[in-house]
Amino acid sequence: MSATIEKGINSFKEVIDAPIASFFSSCVHCGLCAEACLFYTETGDAQYTPIHKLEPLRRVWQQEYTLLGKVGKALGLSKPVTDAELAEWEPLVYDSCTLCGRCAMVCPVGNDMTYMIRKMREGMAASGHAPEDLVAATTRAITIGSPMGIKWPAVLAQIKHVQAETGIAVPVEREGADYLVLMSSMEIINFPEYLSALSRIFKQAGVSWTLAQDAFEATNSGIQIGASDLAREIVSRIVVAAERLKVKCVISPECGHAFTALRWEGPNLMGRPFSFEVKHILEVLDELHTAGKLRTKGKDQRPLTYHDPCQIARRGGVIEQPRRLLNEIAEDFREMPDAGVMNWCCGGGGGVSANSRAEPLRLQSFKYKKGQIEATGTQTLITACANCRIVMEEGLEHYHMKVEVIGLTELLAEYLVEEEKT
Ligand code: SF4
Ligand code: SF4
Repeated sequence: MSATIEKGINSFKEVIDAPIASFFSSCVHCGLCAEACLFYTETGDAQYTPIHKLEPLRRVWQQEYTLLGKVGKALGLSKPVTDAELAEWEPLVYDSCTLCGRCAMVCPVGNDMTYMIRKMREGMAASGHAPEDLVAATTRAITIGSPMGIKWPAVLAQIKHVQAETGIAVPVEREGADYLVLMSSMEIINFPEYLSALSRIFKQAGVSWTLAQDAFEATNSGIQIGASDLAREIVSRIVVAAERLKVKCVISPECGHAFTALRWEGPNLMGRPFSFEVKHILEVLDELHTAGKLRTKGKDQRPLTYHDPCQIARRGGVIEQPRRLLNEIAEDFREMPDAGVMNWCCGGGGGVSANSRAEPLRLQSFKYKKGQIEATGTQTLITACANCRIVMEEGLEHYHMKVEVIGLTELLAEYLVEEEKT
């Protein structure tokens, strides 16, 4: 057995915990999870059945941890997992799963395939079977501090631009602020309007906030590639900065998996509770709205629809907040079919959009989202994840659809009651 496959199998053995063992042993092979996964529905290819993507992990569980499996392995009746097999499985584990969690919602025995794929990626990464692009992004996140290689001077340039545009000072390294604001690489590079919108909203609401020079990046490539040690290092930078600045809350930006990484996985990765809260920006905006601190004027007359990012809605529970905010500023808000907890993924989460090899499959799978948008008859699509936004913009362009995609924070800022100039 080669050193790499030994490492991979040992890593598989390590990640097989009680939930994984119970999920494999309770699967009734009904196939219902297939119909919940857009990679299956849009291709009709059985290899994209969620539970099938985990087959090497299942074999290791069976051969190492069940009596029948051990006997079968000893008698040569079941083949050991090989390096070549892991190489063959790599696209199934990384290119055709966005960790969206939809399949878990329909499984009659409650198997959480997202948890299982996350765990399986640990073994794949350990054995050298992770996509090149994700390896490069994770390396940049560790060595530079951002998966897209963004350094503080780039953020500073954006801050200066926002200050010049809005006349509002963007606070940096302000100890004792209530909120530490994070951004995703996508926002820094593609959507500078997010920081501008946030500055205007927080100015109106009188929010005390800050950015941190060494912890501005929310994106966690360690979670996407399946390397808990790296995920922990990325989370710990934020924790150290939040504790140094003594903030009460860290705001996860319009990014889906960053919220999962910090809010749900963060304390487990660190092995201790945080001394601060973690909220998604939509939760904060909704609280400000409820408290009467976010005052808007007028309504958008365009028919609008909203795409629920999987990690924020289904896996994060932030479903009512965007609707309350949208109802405040939208005259004609239309839900897409399956909106909310059962919404369909944009197709690019979980590291899929950062993996160029996956692009043809991602665009093919975008057909489901295309159909959902078309069903609403709208040409304006609102969302709250910069990654979803860029993935949907690419999908819309690919299918020649004239639909504009806007971040909800940015849209809200357009309808703020203007501050009196002092
Ligand atoms: S988590 Fe989402 S993308 Fe992954 S297998 Fe399940 S339904 Fe498919
Ligand atoms: S839906 Fe659940 S029980 Fe059915 S095949 Fe998928 S994982 Fe197994």
